[in-house]
Amino acid sequence: MMSNEFKNSLISRENLIKIGNKYGTPLYIYDSLTIKNQYLKLQKAFSEIKHLKIYYACKANTNLNILKFLQKLGSGLDTVSIQEVELGLMAGFHPREIIFTPNCVSIHEINKAVDLGVRINIDNLSILEQFGNDKPYYPVGIRINPHIMAGNNYKISVGHVDSKFGISYYQIPHLKRILKNTGLKIDGFHMHTGSDISDIETFIKGAKVIFKIAIDFPNIDYIDFGSGFKVPYTKNDKKTDLNSLSFSLIKQFEDFCKIYGKKVTLILEPGKFLVSESGYFLVHVNVIKHTTSNVFAGVDSGFNHLIRPMYYEAYHSIENLSNPNGCRRFYTVVGYICESDTFGFNRKIAEIREGDILCIKNAGAYCFSMSSNYNSRYRPSEVMIFKEKDFLIRKRETMKDLLRNVIEIPI
Ligand SMILES: *Cc1c(COP(=O)(O)O)cnc(C)c1O
Repeated sequence: MMSNEFKNSLISRENLIKIGNKYGTPLYIYDSLTIKNQYLKLQKAFSEIKHLKIYYACKANTNLNILKFLQKLGSGLDTVSIQEVELGLMAGFHPREIIFTPNCVSIHEINKAVDLGVRINIDNLSILEQFGNDKPYYPVGIRINPHIMAGNNYKISVGHVDSKFGISYYQIPHLKRILKNTGLKIDGFHMHTGSDISDIETFIKGAKVIFKIAIDFPNIDYIDFGSGFKVPYTKNDKKTDLNSLSFSLIKQFEDFCKIYGKKVTLILEPGKFLVSESGYFLVHVNVIKHTTSNVFAGVDSGFNHLIRPMYYEAYHSIENLSNPNGCRRFYTVVGYICESDTFGFNRKIAEIREGDILCIKNAGAYCFSMSSNYNSRYRPSEVMIFKEKDFLIRKRETMKDLLRNVIEIPI
């Protein structure tokens, strides 16, 4: 069930509380060592591939310091908006180390990416044709939707048929016509499942579709297999088995390169895998409320700060840092937002008292980056543990931030 152990001494219970008291709650804390270890783990699993490049999918966590840290580790950056591209450039990534893989953005936004010199993956034929007419000299990658419905496997969909992402595998003849008509060249292919790859067979089936397509295109430099690497949210939770994934993928990939006659670059784009487990979200317990059916622990946060449990029904472990040896009892941990706002339902947690500090785990990916000012609350501060010290890497907001772009008219 729940993991009670913190992974290293820098993020021991005591240290987290100390940092929580120093900066106040609600507070995001990221451990840079965890990020580094995840990066190295992935690199090691694919070390047989000479031309490997990992591009951090930064929508998971866009704090500039996290971006810089990954840049120093040797990572590239996967971006989905022109603003993320700009953040990446500010963080020190070379334009060619940035991949822009947007969905449903305007041709103007894609043109801006050309001006900035980054790699681009295009995922629909309409934009591809406009782009080819306008800039046939700027090779792009193509995001493919391989429509793998995984035959007899219940765990389906590597880019399913109803997905808005990618250019359909069945549209390749039209893709080829557009390239011929415009003179545009393709330098890579991309797929991204979006789902947790615990089913490696399905992933490989998708990869095979990409190989089958790519073989017909003579000038490609890379194949980008996207991401979807699953991390454990609890002690016994499943995770992507990197070794069996790399074992199968490397074999297929090398066979492809042999037939293709050239060693192309293998690209991976993990977001969650690199940063999820590095993050700890600390909240303060405002109230313990007994109702007719439940005991609620109400905290100084809500889905304005961490929306995954409410939005995706994601399970995040919750621990009571202030009373680790307390008798374990059942609580429903909720936020202060005036709407249903449950972080964890009916959880067994060491006895919670008003004033305790709780820690919500796996808070490094898609947590701060999805936060908002709903209920006119300030977004929390962020701290990074780097070289064994804690650094404030984002200030808590103030009323000034809430009013920054408001224009008052005489009423
Ligand atoms: C979101 C995204 C990723 C990262 O997905 P994770 O599940 O966080 O690893 C990779 N590539 C693209 C194109 C994405 O949109």
